[in-house]
Amino acid sequence: MPALELSSLSKSFHTVAALKDVTLTVEDREFLVILGPSGCGKTTLLRCIAGLEYPDAGEIHIGDRCAYSARSGTALSPRERSIGMVFQNYALYPHMSVWENVAFGLRMRKTGKGELGERVARALQMVDLEGFEKRSPKTLSGGQRQRVALARTLVTEPSVLLFDEPLSNLDPKLRVGLRSQLKQIHEQTGATSVFVTHDQNEAMILGDRVAVIQNGTIAQVDEPRRLYHYPVNVDVAIFTGNPHTNVITGQIHQSDERVLLIPDSDPYCFLPLPDVFRPHAGASVTVCCRPEDVELVADPADDEGRLEVIAFNPEAGRAVVHLRLGNDPRQVLAVSSTRELKHIKRTANAGIRIIRGNLYTGETGFLLGSFGQPAIPQRVHRQIRQ
Ligand code: ADP
Ligand code: MG
Repeated sequence: MPALELSSLSKSFHTVAALKDVTLTVEDREFLVILGPSGCGKTTLLRCIAGLEYPDAGEIHIGDRCAYSARSGTALSPRERSIGMVFQNYALYPHMSVWENVAFGLRMRKTGKGELGERVARALQMVDLEGFEKRSPKTLSGGQRQRVALARTLVTEPSVLLFDEPLSNLDPKLRVGLRSQLKQIHEQTGATSVFVTHDQNEAMILGDRVAVIQNGTIAQVDEPRRLYHYPVNVDVAIFTGNPHTNVITGQIHQSDERVLLIPDSDPYCFLPLPDVFRPHAGASVTVCCRPEDVELVADPADDEGRLEVIAFNPEAGRAVVHLRLGNDPRQVLAVSSTRELKHIKRTANAGIRIIRGNLYTGETGFLLGSFGQPAIPQRVHRQIRQ
């Protein structure tokens, strides 16, 4: 049975529709990440699950219990839901010690002294804070405070853990450290988790699956690799780019030998496409491809398009090359071997070959087809780590 089921949830604040018809299932022991830009409805969704906010429509099931149903009028209070939540700002009780902060939830539940002591010790051990029991939150760093907040939530053993951007107030080094610690804790406890972030890196590393939310709607739910290689629409492709996704709009043109993209921003810069797109000749499309999917060609054939080289960014054994395509303000990024780079000068022209990519209908449309992408079988039964 799924740990959490959301069916057709909608929630508006006056005229702002924060959630629109959100349907999502979280499996038992799964780590599901909700990824989306600021203001897209992530916090509202978590608050609805926790019972801090009531949706206008839809249903929420936690395990085998109905926690909310607009239709039947069921609305469990936050206390009745067995949900733990960790927020962006670590809301610790400032006048209590670390130990007391972590013990607080169990005290409220009147847990016996012996069990309480054991569980607090175990939670502090999980977040690596043994020896900090007597410290006051004031004397801790941001990362340590967030670990206390995590221990305080873990100790109550909720059936679902909710995280609202818990790492985004930390400096980058701490963030990476705590991220791996979270992953370890999840492997140890197997606690079903819903983790909200606007950081696609964090999402890809932590998530068993990632749900991308745009303007209050779930655009795609997939495991990270599938999300990266087969984004369902142009916005998801752009949002999952790390750090950049090439977006080229144009029209498909066919000749006897070739299928070409004629870019809107430079109709003389033909870009070859695989033959499978021949049936779409005449269609307006958007091609999205990651920089590593585009190869730079120092000396392209006469009938291939050329782009202006505007900058190089050398990395280990290769370089990322920034190119201008006609009057398009978006740069095209391609990779080049350092050997090939020797033949290329800034402000000179070079060709590109798109070896992997996805084609979408029109300017902002939906996935029409993919080429060169790895085959990623869709799992029928999800394999959850035991
Ligand atoms: P996110 O967490 O993804 O940044 P939120 O869920 O906080 O997004 O907000 C989604 C939308 O709902 C935003 O437009 C926000 O301004 C609006 N919103 C959220 N909470 C309230 C509220 N209590 N009153 C009015 N508008 C709200
Ligand atoms: Mg938020």
